[in-house]
Amino acid sequence: MDDLRKLPFTTKKDLRDTYPFGLFAVPRSEIVRMHASSGTTGKPIVVGYTKKDLDTWADLVARCMAMTGGTKEDVVQNAYGYGLFTGGLGIHYGAERLGATIVPISGGNTARQLMLMQDFGTTILTCTPSYAMFMADEIIAAGIKENIKLKAGIFGAEPWSNNMRLQLEEKLGIKAHDIYGLSEVLGPGVAMECEHQKGLHIFDDHFIPEIIDPETEQPLPYGQKGELVFTTLTKEGFPVIRYRTKDISVLYEEKCDCGRTHVRMERITGRTDDMLIIRGVNVFPSQIESVLLEFGETEPHYLLVVDRKAAMDDLEIQVELSSKMFSDKIAGLEVLERRLKERILSVLGISAKIKLVEPKSIPRSEGKAKRVIDKREL
Ligand SMILES: [Zn+2]
Repeated sequence: MDDLRKLPFTTKKDLRDTYPFGLFAVPRSEIVRMHASSGTTGKPIVVGYTKKDLDTWADLVARCMAMTGGTKEDVVQNAYGYGLFTGGLGIHYGAERLGATIVPISGGNTARQLMLMQDFGTTILTCTPSYAMFMADEIIAAGIKENIKLKAGIFGAEPWSNNMRLQLEEKLGIKAHDIYGLSEVLGPGVAMECEHQKGLHIFDDHFIPEIIDPETEQPLPYGQKGELVFTTLTKEGFPVIRYRTKDISVLYEEKCDCGRTHVRMERITGRTDDMLIIRGVNVFPSQIESVLLEFGETEPHYLLVVDRKAAMDDLEIQVELSSKMFSDKIAGLEVLERRLKERILSVLGISAKIKLVEPKSIPRSEGKAKRVIDKREL
């Protein structure tokens, strides 16, 4: 095992540089499904799965569901987005593997979510924690809590705090479990919380975890905080060796009270880079910058303000007008705002509020620019 440390790391840059299929380890004809995640440059990270990979994935997600007490008697309402994002289909086939009844409703349309949740007797809800909170508030507002039969939630794809967990558990009358995964390693189902909620069990029969110091790149012992690195053991289509996740965590070796012997990881407390996760979508400040550079009427000086006032994340982008645009007082600022809003939506995949501000009104910095104000209490 010590020899693993002699191998070089794999980084997101390696994946980007070999876009789209350069790191597939089998002929393309052996790949039966592809997923992709957003990246900084517009080109996504592409991952491919063989039949056996999909089989493994379904097994591991079924394992996650079983850790919540799930069985074939359960009705799983899957409100993760279906598509290139691994959340929807990853959860879907795991629920089927378990033998549970899956409701592939995908995200959004909350009124319909709540109607089916009551009519179908949904017992397990899977989605991002912020969407679960939104649904919980709607359930309480509609006075339908006694019609809801939920017993567990499987929430992931964005960081969330223990306070949020406690609120979700109280509002929905459930046990809320954190699920971890990333498409580069598999998708959801790399690690999962059991009923004791003392860290996530990493399925180390399929993935070797390491924690490294992100600066020195040296491995750190159990109990020390650092960057999470994974090596896949069983993947065929897109195996990775020492993949640097940029997620910050701690590994624990002690056996869990549930009896499972997997290595456990602390829930993700941050990232080594500047990526933001907003409503489950990866957002890089540099993506906004590139949009602003496309528009001549604005300066590439901007500020992202992220807040979570009503359970869902709100993104406001403050953008400086160019001096010319400002002094000409050209009628059409509303048109500019709308165009920016549309362009941001198409690049990021989420909507944002655009606030045009005067030239030079956003503070400049000598060092690393402060581009983000994150007011969320995670
Ligand atoms: Zn456990």
